[in-house]
Amino acid sequence: MFSYQPPLKDIRFVLTDLLDASGRLSQLPPFSEVDDDLMMQVAEEAGRFASEVLFPLNAVGDREGCKYENGKVKTPPGFAEAYRQFYEAGWPALACDPTYGGQGLPNTLNNVLYEMLSSSNHAWTMYPGLLHGAYACLHKHASDELKQRYLPKVVSGEWLATMCLTESQAGSDLGLLRTRATPQDDGSVRISGSKIFISGGEQDMTDNIVHLVLARLPDAPAGSKGISLFLVPKYLPEGEGLGKRNSITCTGIEHKMGIHGSATTSLQFDDAVGWMVGEPNRGLAAMFVMMNAARLAVGIQGLGSAETAYQNALLYAQERLQMRAAVRPPQRRSEPADPIIMHPAMQRLLMTQRAYVEGFRMLAYYSSLALDVSEHHPDPQVRADKDAELALLTPIIKAMMTDQGFHGSSQALQIYGGHGFITETGIEQYLRDSRIAMIYEGTNEIQAVDLLLRKILSDGGKRLDQFLAQVQETIDAEINTELREPAEDLSTLVNNIRERVAAIAQAATSHPELPHTVAPEMLRLVGHCSIAWLWLRAGRVAHSKITDDPVFFQAKLGTCQYYFDFVLPETSQLLQIIDNVLESTNHKNQPPMLSDVMRQYAQTDS
Ligand SMILES: Cc1cc2nc3c(=O)[nH]c(=O)nc-3n(C[C@H](O)[C@H](O)[C@H](O)COP(=O)(O)OP(=O)(O)OC[C@H]3O[C@@H](n4cnc5c(N)ncnc54)[C@H](O)[C@@H]3O)c2cc1C
Repeated sequence: MFSYQPPLKDIRFVLTDLLDASGRLSQLPPFSEVDDDLMMQVAEEAGRFASEVLFPLNAVGDREGCKYENGKVKTPPGFAEAYRQFYEAGWPALACDPTYGGQGLPNTLNNVLYEMLSSSNHAWTMYPGLLHGAYACLHKHASDELKQRYLPKVVSGEWLATMCLTESQAGSDLGLLRTRATPQDDGSVRISGSKIFISGGEQDMTDNIVHLVLARLPDAPAGSKGISLFLVPKYLPEGEGLGKRNSITCTGIEHKMGIHGSATTSLQFDDAVGWMVGEPNRGLAAMFVMMNAARLAVGIQGLGSAETAYQNALLYAQERLQMRAAVRPPQRRSEPADPIIMHPAMQRLLMTQRAYVEGFRMLAYYSSLALDVSEHHPDPQVRADKDAELALLTPIIKAMMTDQGFHGSSQALQIYGGHGFITETGIEQYLRDSRIAMIYEGTNEIQAVDLLLRKILSDGGKRLDQFLAQVQETIDAEINTELREPAEDLSTLVNNIRERVAAIAQAATSHPELPHTVAPEMLRLVGHCSIAWLWLRAGRVAHSKITDDPVFFQAKLGTCQYYFDFVLPETSQLLQIIDNVLESTNHKNQPPMLSDVMRQYAQTDS
């Protein structure tokens, strides 16, 4: 039976033992009341909702999908009712400003909630998934009038929100978008154009939908510097209530590989009424508030998928009997076959999944805490430093965690053998559903370019240096302890990253394409560095607390060791690839070899 158990013990370990989240949060003025008990109470309640209400709807949503008829969308059976329960329990308001009806709790807790929602039902989670980003964007950039009218409904979740960026000709490159915004004398605008792939653009869960739409004002400069952001509601306001329907038509929904329960809609705007959010032609900057929140959330979707896939693969591996293992305990000697978990090949697959899941949970919650500090610390310098750190970690979280959401699901499916390929087993849905997270919210290739070019090279590596200095502190503290070996491995990696960044920056002056070529490798290198750093810290905690819970902390130490012995060595290969590309630039004024080969193929093929 496919199942989901909220991983509360590991969540507690990360929040309490590793990060001292409540201790740090309680130093921030809005969270002075937050303590461990409160955090775990919220996590337990969230886990109950996720596992008891959402998880049972996951396979139903996949099977039934969304239905489209005459501009209306019907979500799968049970989805709207589950949303009603979610809204009535106050979950959308968890981490929002009390001025607008929020509960004023930390983002960290919201992300714990979203990990469990994603683990249980990725498709359903798409509907409220953009609410927090929309809230953050409106809170920061909307006029007071728009805030008063829309924020309380977005905060409570009475109305859901969308993010309307993509058009058929404008995907990764939003500078190509064509939707137009025409200003009116009353300060509103009229929006015309077509958007595609809009998640939740139409649904039967809420009375109104708040669309956040990117469009161009007349005479706007071409490209991404000519884009503005607008709030365009499905129903226009009238007095305190809802007025007439805005001229937005849902023209269809996509039939797709996964997340069948999430309505991926095409929307037609025909002179729809909207209002600008933020400044003219600065829409992308305003939208980035939403996109950054969403990128963190999408990374957490990857973590959620990987967790459920791992849990089920583990259960299956403990039950499925095939062949005798090389090493058998005496009590199994008369049995014809052993559980497949006794075969080292299966242990490797399971441990790799586990090392990533636990490593990513540490990174996700560490970064969520950084977000809270960056928003609420009294010292502006601390806020700025945390903001810079988060900007560095966000593309890593988005790309590496969603890669593992998919690859971890594939590893889990492998453990099921042929049974994993059969729909009713349940795991293949996780493989299909998790695939999209590598694409939307900025593809993982775009994340790699963002990390290396915009976050590392653009400031001469300063932001990265600050991060590596923290890593170095942990290494220095562990270099003469029982964790000396992993500390040395991490130290080597830090030095290698520093060297390669310098070499890439140098080579880029004559070979501008080179950083783009090696960006995926650099993302995984810095990503491994951040996970290895947190594993080293987890190892320290496990050593110091081993007598409190010997089984749990021994397992933690074992997984820490596994990460350093079996997972981290991927970095040698990544470094080798970067070195090969750097080496190719030494051949007199040749561009990196890849573009040469592609050009040659283009000539041969034509
Ligand atoms: C199920 C689903 C839900 C979605 N939800 C939403 C939503 O709610 N709102 C919304 O606005 N959009 C949404 N999208 C759209 C999604 O964000 C885009 O599909 C995504 O941004 C990629 O754009 P594209 O599909 O046009 O691919 P393209 O941009 O055409 O990219 C094709 C390939 O080229 C690569 N590429 C492009 N440019 C570069 C570059 N500079 N460097 C390296 N590689 C590059 C990409 O990585 C990719 O592999 C959704 C899409 C799907 C399928």
